[in-house]
Amino acid sequence: MKIVTRFAPSPTGALHVGAARTAIFNWLFSESLGGDFLLRIEDTDRVRSEERFELQIIESLKWLGLEWRGEIIRQSGRLDIYGRLAERLIDEKKAYRCYVTAEELGQKREEASKKGEIFRYRREWSQIGAAPGKPYAIRLSVSLGEKIFVEDLVRGEIIFDSSEIEDFVILKADGFPTYNFAAAVDDAQMEISHVIRGDDHIINAPRQILIAEALGLGKPQLAHVPMILGQDGKKLSKRHGAESVTEYRLCGYLPEAVLNYLVRLGWSFGDQEIFTAKELVEKFSLKGIGKSPSVFDSGKFLWLNGKYLRDLPEERILDEMAAIVVQKGLPLQSPQKLRKIMEQMLQRSETLNAMVDQALYFFIDDFEYDEQAAAKFLVEKNREILELLAEELLGFKNFSHDNIHGGFERVMQQTGVGLGKIAQPARVALTGSTKSPGIFDVVEILGKDTVARRITRALDFIGSRGA
Ligand code: GLU
Repeated sequence: MKIVTRFAPSPTGALHVGAARTAIFNWLFSESLGGDFLLRIEDTDRVRSEERFELQIIESLKWLGLEWRGEIIRQSGRLDIYGRLAERLIDEKKAYRCYVTAEELGQKREEASKKGEIFRYRREWSQIGAAPGKPYAIRLSVSLGEKIFVEDLVRGEIIFDSSEIEDFVILKADGFPTYNFAAAVDDAQMEISHVIRGDDHIINAPRQILIAEALGLGKPQLAHVPMILGQDGKKLSKRHGAESVTEYRLCGYLPEAVLNYLVRLGWSFGDQEIFTAKELVEKFSLKGIGKSPSVFDSGKFLWLNGKYLRDLPEERILDEMAAIVVQKGLPLQSPQKLRKIMEQMLQRSETLNAMVDQALYFFIDDFEYDEQAAAKFLVEKNREILELLAEELLGFKNFSHDNIHGGFERVMQQTGVGLGKIAQPARVALTGSTKSPGIFDVVEILGKDTVARRITRALDFIGSRGA
């Protein structure tokens, strides 16, 4: 059997990490078996679908390296196909026109719920309000008392009772298909062999099976994957922080890390945590998909990204950093200086953005002082230390690491205090906070002129505070 999978996003938002995981599983499954991975845009929700979301989704898939085969299929371009098939089902008495309005339906639902019953639409109501020219939806006739078997490759056999499924709409009054109808038709016409998707779609499986059977179409094998939960055990959502691939990209995550982290949410291969894309293709199989939900751990995701970051070739990190510097409107530094900043920040950062964000003081003079740090260290009693330091450091022709070290040593001798007591005020003066790379490195990277300006600024600050 030829393996054909698809990813079928609805363009109603950016690519959510849960949807990205679905895409990754489908892509890996077909790649691992030499099959085809196709992309279908399910844009039949006319109110919520937007082109910008489609573009974002496509860009995210490309960024993750998930290449699909052939043209993108767009459901909005296939309305005539769905329309024809729905009419055919009417001719064959497997579907019928339904004229009931939304208000009438609402009433019926309310009446049923008052009686403690579940309202399920049935054929006998179809002619209510029927009139020539009146808009109608098309519903599938669902026979009662039949068993519908879903052979799920993750969950095993699930049996549904057709009596619990109402005669559901397949084509809406505006001529657009419902999700279930379009998905069942397209999966068959695209010759999809396997559908891997979140288990929130399991309730749709019997409906799609009924549609395929009514139309005499083929049915894909199904694999429903457990959900991703937040650490509070609730479905992953905005409350848990960034939720789209675009957001992670903009925060400086690497595609390799996103791919690796998401695939491990719900799939495992022994205890192995880190996989290259090539290894994933070699090792992926549906057997590795677990039966229980997985928990999204943003701390672990960040840690994994840091690991990938430190494994990148230096040239790529420099290019990415330069792009972030430009994008943030910061002054671009010389390649030598940027390299030194990178060397200092790489071990201290887990994302590309953090390498720049935590090092803003290497780029701009007018950063704000951390309030607590300034209150503690930019004070009158440290004035002398900063003045002596300026005298020592600014006298050097060669602003080398060794000379800078020597300068600090001499201030220690002159004041009789230890390095820590000198380094901390210097650090706050030069970087705005008490946390930074080694003070000699910071001084060297900033260069003499910048150090001079910043010590003057700190002395002014001390003066203004004392006044
Ligand atoms: N458009 C659906 C979604 O985004 C696709 C579900 C499916 O894979 O069948 O959830």
